[in-house]
Amino acid sequence: MAKAPVLTPRADDFPRWYQDLITKAELADNGPVRGTMVIRPYGYGLWERMQAEMDARIKETGTQNAYFPLLIPQSYLTREADHVEGFAPELAVVTHGGGKELEEPAVVRPTSEMIINDYFSKWVQSYRDLPLLINQWANVVRWELRPRLFLRTTEFLWQEGHTAHATQEDARAFASHIHRQVYEDFMTNVLAMDVVPGRKTVKERFAGAINTLTLEGMMGDGKALQMATSHELGQNFAKAFNTSYLSKDGTQELVWQTSWGSTTRMIGALVMMHGDDNGLRVPPRLAQTQVVVLAIKGDEQVLAKVRDIGDRLKAAGLRVHVDDRTDTPFGRRAVDWELKGVPVRVEVGPRDLESGTAMVARRIPGGKEAVAVDDLVRLLRAVLEEDQALLLAQSRERRESRTADVSTFDEAVEAAVAGGWARIPWATLGEEGEARLAEHGATVRCLVAEDGSVPGTDDAPGNVAVVARAY
Ligand code: AMP
Repeated sequence: MAKAPVLTPRADDFPRWYQDLITKAELADNGPVRGTMVIRPYGYGLWERMQAEMDARIKETGTQNAYFPLLIPQSYLTREADHVEGFAPELAVVTHGGGKELEEPAVVRPTSEMIINDYFSKWVQSYRDLPLLINQWANVVRWELRPRLFLRTTEFLWQEGHTAHATQEDARAFASHIHRQVYEDFMTNVLAMDVVPGRKTVKERFAGAINTLTLEGMMGDGKALQMATSHELGQNFAKAFNTSYLSKDGTQELVWQTSWGSTTRMIGALVMMHGDDNGLRVPPRLAQTQVVVLAIKGDEQVLAKVRDIGDRLKAAGLRVHVDDRTDTPFGRRAVDWELKGVPVRVEVGPRDLESGTAMVARRIPGGKEAVAVDDLVRLLRAVLEEDQALLLAQSRERRESRTADVSTFDEAVEAAVAGGWARIPWATLGEEGEARLAEHGATVRCLVAEDGSVPGTDDAPGNVAVVARAY
């Protein structure tokens, strides 16, 4: 009899496969309140690595971390008309505290433009205070109607950047720098994810922004996922909060602002982009554990060897975990590490001691081979680099092969419904066509220029709309 698959096969039921993988790889559980989530240690470890890599890139831009309150006076929300309209349906509101009804209800932050501007307006006095570049790592709450673990949860973890600049050009350049040099660089070079950088149409813009830049990724089933966004806010919040400065010429001017965010959704993207029927595949540069060294048997000599190999690999700078839980059968542990997607397993049994070798099993391309222990460090370094590149190449190949260049609305819908992306001239689709896509469950994910760059305006000649169904 064939062995029962560990997970629901992707081809049978992609959403079920996703749920299954999250449970069996011990990434997360559903929380007791609908839409909330418990992030388990292995999932949280992925988030911590994402945070570390992102934080370093964010700080490179001169941005500093700070922390603002979770609770925001409800009245703040009403100050920017588009913003309140966009967020009103998703708000959680605290009406009672300490057993009493509050004089003014407090909103649990869905994002922090309002409260941060309240303080920016105090901190910014003169042109010398600009640019003001702030980021916070926090949780936010948006009452989502169709929640899904990691991709769309009611409470999620994120970083939100908020900046104020003296000129529109400076703000625009900064939003773009975050988009490409922070987000795209991180996704491409650490997450090994192919992403398409583009700008959102007016319909898909962030509530209160004058321009939203996005990165869109193609998941394993051909649907799109918005991976992160960087907004130009213009002077909308500056007007609402009177965030202004004394210019060099002695005039009082409103600041120009940006905001940008990336979330625990990226863990969901990791699953959907790199996962396969055996579980997750974690890119080596992200992995908290790049190599797991497993003792096949609980024999003293094997355990000593496994620890010795672990030490050698750690000393060489690799992120290593030694698995010596030999009271659990080896086969089960091997399957668990496959599910968790640790890039490489080094397996050591009694027979390997005599030959001075270990079995190296590669999760990403698959396959196993015996390797001389003295050669492990050199080999693993090469293997990890190779696997990092392979994941990126596979995700790029998928997007390229499942994207169709089309010239009519019907062809665009057909491509999206078939589980792929369509590229259609924006001048052909237009806002009217964009509105009709909803009937087919599709949206314009972003606008890109003909040469793949990010257009400066919606209606630049040659703009192409990327159309897909999305998570
Ligand atoms: P926004 O502030 O709306 O631009 O959101 C920033 C980023 O958060 C988006 O680009 C999404 O990738 C992500 N995001 C939005 N809503 C959720 C959610 N409910 N759960 C997880 N991530 C989200």
